[in-house]
Parts: sequence; C-alpha cells; structure tokens
Amino acid sequence: MAETSTVCPYCGVGCGLRVEPGDGRAAVTPDVAHPANRGRVCSKGAALGETLGEADRLLRPEIGGTPVSWEAALGEVAGRLRSVIETHGPQAVAFYVSGQLLTEDYYVANKLMKGFIGAANIDTNSRLCMSSAVAAYKRTLGEDAVPCSYEDLEQADLLVFVGSNAAWTHPVLYQRVAAEKRRRPELRVVVVDPRRTPTCDIADLHLALRPGSDAWLFDGLLSFLAREDGLNRAFLDAHTQGLDDALAAARAAAPSIPAVAAACELPAAQVAEFFRLFLHTEKTVTLWSQGLNQSSSGVDKGVALINCHLATGRIGRPGMGPFSLTGQPNAMGGREVGGLANQLAAHMDIEDADARDRLARFWGVPAVAATPGFKAVDLFEAVADGRIKAVWIMATNPVVSLPDGERVRAALAACEHVIVSDCVRGSDTVACADVLLPAATWGEKDGTVTNSERRISRMRAFLPPPGEARPDWWIVTEVARRLGHGDAFTFRSPADIFREHAALSGFENGGARLFDIGALADLDDAAYDALAPVQWPVTPATPSGTTRLFADGCFATADGRALLLPVAPRPPAVPAGDEYPLVLNTGRIRDQWHTMTRTARTPRLTTHMPEPFVQIHPLDADLWHLAEGGLARLSSPHGGMLARVKLDAAQRPGSVFVPMHWSETYARDARANVLTAAVTDPVSGQPEFKHAPVRVEPF
Ligand code: SF4
Repeated sequence: MAETSTVCPYCGVGCGLRVEPGDGRAAVTPDVAHPANRGRVCSKGAALGETLGEADRLLRPEIGGTPVSWEAALGEVAGRLRSVIETHGPQAVAFYVSGQLLTEDYYVANKLMKGFIGAANIDTNSRLCMSSAVAAYKRTLGEDAVPCSYEDLEQADLLVFVGSNAAWTHPVLYQRVAAEKRRRPELRVVVVDPRRTPTCDIADLHLALRPGSDAWLFDGLLSFLAREDGLNRAFLDAHTQGLDDALAAARAAAPSIPAVAAACELPAAQVAEFFRLFLHTEKTVTLWSQGLNQSSSGVDKGVALINCHLATGRIGRPGMGPFSLTGQPNAMGGREVGGLANQLAAHMDIEDADARDRLARFWGVPAVAATPGFKAVDLFEAVADGRIKAVWIMATNPVVSLPDGERVRAALAACEHVIVSDCVRGSDTVACADVLLPAATWGEKDGTVTNSERRISRMRAFLPPPGEARPDWWIVTEVARRLGHGDAFTFRSPADIFREHAALSGFENGGARLFDIGALADLDDAAYDALAPVQWPVTPATPSGTTRLFADGCFATADGRALLLPVAPRPPAVPAGDEYPLVLNTGRIRDQWHTMTRTARTPRLTTHMPEPFVQIHPLDADLWHLAEGGLARLSSPHGGMLARVKLDAAQRPGSVFVPMHWSETYARDARANVLTAAVTDPVSGQPEFKHAPVRVEPF
C-alpha cells in the first residue's frame, strides 16, 4: 500500500508522519516535509505502528453491556437525550469531549450542543491543560491567539522554559532547541521549574523555585525592568495600556531582587542572573506549559509572564514572544470551534449578543446558548449532585484524568445516562457507561488538527476501522438527525464539516477576530485531502497562512491595544501541613501518553518506566523512612495510591512527583488524581494539579 502523510496523535507539537501500513502493523517515519518536525520524531511517535490492531478495541455498540446494532444504539442515545431535555430542560445534558478529537468531530458536537440542544454544557479535557493560557491571552492580547511560531525558537537568543519539561512532554520541539543550542552555544536557555528535569540538560540556568511562586518571579522581573530602564516606552505608548497599574502591583508584590528571592526561595544571585539575561536579550521567547497553567492562579501567572513581553515590546517579531506549549494534539482546534463551555465557535464570545446573533443566523436557529455552561470540574460536580442527568463522554477518561477521581467515578455511577464514545474497552470511564459507542481512532479517521503554533494539518486515514467502529463526527451527526436536526446536519464527510467551519470563521468577520480561515471555505474534496500544513489566519490577504501574529502592533482588543494587567500573586489554595506535609506535583513521563490506552500497547514504550513511581528527595525519604525501590502509599484527604519509591536529588525537598498516566486498568491503586483536590483557577476553571498536599509512607 502507498505511504500516507498524516500527523501524530499525541502531543501538541503536531509532528508530520509518513505511514506505510503492513501486516497488522505500520512503518512510521517522520515526514521531512512537515514544518513542525522537519524529519524528527520522538519515541512515542516512532512506536505508533506497533499500537495498531484490534486487541482491546470496542467493535460494536453496546447498551447495558449487550451488543446492539448502530440503529439501536443511536436511537437509544437520541431517546435518552430527548427524554432528559423534555423533562428537565437542555441544561440537564452535557458533553465532555477531548483534545484527542479532530476539529471536525469537535465542530459537530459543539454545533449540536450550543446551537440545537440550546445549552453550553460542552467542555473538554483541554480545560485541564490550556484554559489558563487561553484566559491569559484573551485578557492581555484580546484573543486566544498564540503569537509565535516554532521557528522563533531557533531565531531567539534566550529561551525561558517555565513549568515545562519539554524534553519529555514536547520532545521534538526540545530536539529542535537542543540542536540549535549545539549549533549556536551562545543561545541561552533558562529553565524555571521546582524540579530538575531532563529539560535542564541544555539549561545555562535552572531556577528551582518554590512550587507555585512563579507570579512573584515575573512580577519581580517587571519591576526590575522598570528600575533598569528596560521598558520599551515607544511600544508601550503606541500599542498597549495598563502599564501603570501592572507596574504598581508588581512593585508591591516583588519590589527587589532579595524580595523575589525570598518569595521564590531562590538564591538572589540566580534571580539577578535571570533578570539581567532577560533585560539584555532582545530576542527572547518565554515558553510555558502545565507548571503555570495547572494552578489555582494559573491565569494570573500567564498574565504576569505576558506583561514582561508587552513591557519590552518583545512580541510579534522574529525570535520573540510569549509562547504557551499545548499539551494535546488538537486542544487548539477544539478551541477554534468553540469546544469550551464559556466560548462560541470561531473564537466568538458567548457573552457577546452580536456574536450569538451572528452564529444563530449562520446555523439557521432562532438562538444559540446564551450563558456559559459548566467547566470540566464543575460539570462533574453537576453530574454528582444531579443537575446533569445525561452526560456523553467522547475520547477521554475523566475517571483517571480529573482531580478527586473517586468523586468523579461515584458521580458517573450515580448518573442515569452515561454515554461513552471511545475506541478501547480498557478505560476506567468505559466501565461506567450505560451506552457504549465504538469510535474510530488514529489511522482510521480523517480530519484536521491544529498544533501549538496555530498550524492546521491533515490527519489522514490509512486503515479501515475495525468491526463497526465509526468516526466521532459521524456518530454525533447521526444522533443530531435522530433528534430532528437533519436539515442542519447534512454532513457526509469531514470535508463537508471543514468547509462549514472555515466559512463560519470568515462569516461577517471583517478582521474582528484573528481566527479566520475563510479562505479555505471553498476547498473541494480533493483540495481538502491535499491540504498542506498551514498556520491560521488564512484569509484572502494571507492565503499561505500567517507565521507570526501582532507584527503590526495591532492587537485583538476593541481598541487594538494590548492590556498589561496587575497581578497580585497568590499562594496555592491548600498549603502543606502537619498531616499532609509534602507537596505532590503530577505530570507526564517520556514514553507514555495520557491514560496509556495506546502507549501501553507496545513493550518498547512500557520498558522506559514500567510502573507508577513516586520521585522523592533522599532527605525526605530518610525523614519518612522510605527506601529506594520500596513500595509507598501516598494519601491525601481525597484518596490514596501506591507507587514505587525513586530517590532523586533532582526533586525539590518538600515535594514529590508522581506520573499521571496509570489507571486501575494497568496497576492496582495507581491513579494519581485520586489524591488531587477539585480546586481550580477562578477564571479558567483549570485544576491545581501541581500542588496537592500528601503524606507518603512505606507500604
Ligand atoms: Fe508525536 Fe509529540 Fe513526539 Fe511529535 S513530539 S512525534 S507530536 S509525541
């Protein structure tokens, strides 16, 4: 069979791959022509060919554990949704979707919920990953719009990784940076992270700050820049507002280098070195990821970081900018079609009456949902207390990935109508389903995804779905038809959906919103199939896409000015104490992805770190009588888990690290998120996964 060009289904780097299917497997090689990876691939991407096959796949729809026909299953889903809507109203149903869905899947799910069911109760696991960055961008730049491109990393003279172990979480991007550092040793790399991670291998400076203290660091940087005459007054005057208030807050919180050093528990000399590097290096990119986002003050931390780039005018030019690294392959694409409960499709605001009217006219409905729906954590709270009577979960495993996992499982157990679309049976959430719908997966479905640098790529099928598995867009479309909305859900292919999505982005836009791919609305099927990777916006004025946003200093706010905002740093919501004295930090490891439903299929990946572990500093291990290789029990007020002890001086004393991947499917008592609290950022709703007080004892 001929080779197929597609993209990797794992992280937000969005690497292009070439796939040649063989006998039950496939040869997967990096696509040298794809701009994201330029011929590189990481361990997970390289092993994709070994993860194919029918083992553990869901092959037929099921109702109550009994296999049924698609006709019966679709009728059952539509009947359950209709019954709940008629009895309890549209607010009593919810969709919980995933950054693993393709943009086309997401589009139809969002259209059905916000346009035709009439509620905004569709949220996504991207809430756990990027929602704080989204809110920080919207508040400062006016839109959820990543300013930079990957090529900026190679053009910068200083790269600052904040709360990001890119070496493991965005490996190909890290490979690109490491190669540039080898080529150009004068490139400076700073890592800001309580842990010493593999990303520090190329760092000139590692700031192992107190967990949760990032806002003091960036407030301190802003006040330092002002003291040292490092502000770009011409840029600030021409293109921003809010400096005075932002600066006053920064000075109050972090007035001096010793004050920052004390707040962050860092040596003052290290703080000074970082601040001077930033002051004197025009071409600076500051990258951040979950270490900042997964916090009860994640939005403020992102704002404090962006303030420093606005204050120095380091945005919209080559080698400069604030750059959030997206966790999932299509968290961006999901946001573009309105996959968050507090936004509409095409980056329109749900609070904007004109936007709602525009969308209603485009979809041909009297009105669309007018008030924000439940964000992920609140959505499952609403399931738990009965406000949500029917929940449809697509391509995600919230029993493992949401905080306070036992409460999520109990909520689903008590819910009358739990519909789950998934490709595998081995998921803790599948076990909670009343109706199971077998979904097609990577290699079997066609559509588009958007990576961290706003690049839209085609994911292409190269295998038929096994059994009766179907693409998610098809499943949602068929349910919409059975709910009586057939006239608006006439889609026959992903290309049909993409054309409508692209047309909506340009509909009565006139440059008001940056997310505009209206120039792609007329692609015929062949052109859609051949679509080359392209960065949005894609408009008649920019038909080849847009490398960098805000190059003209014009931002996506009403007056075109970016907004610097005051940030008053807050500590994590729940401090460590006598009963739970250690701070738990959760995260990814190099060779696993999410809850392991794909990556656990190949020994090549499971041998790297074969079991759940707790990484702890040797001093803490002594204190709590823990030995290398022994089993430990971790406890919090919410639950407990077991993990193998790993002593590691890279761990900051007082804190421990546990990977978030394992579930009951793969090991006993292995879910890290039974320990974490359902504490979220008040603006973004993103959970505080990086700071949960725990106790660790020998088991
Ligand atoms: Fe896939 Fe990310 Fe690895 Fe690229 S870096 S091959 S997108 S997991």
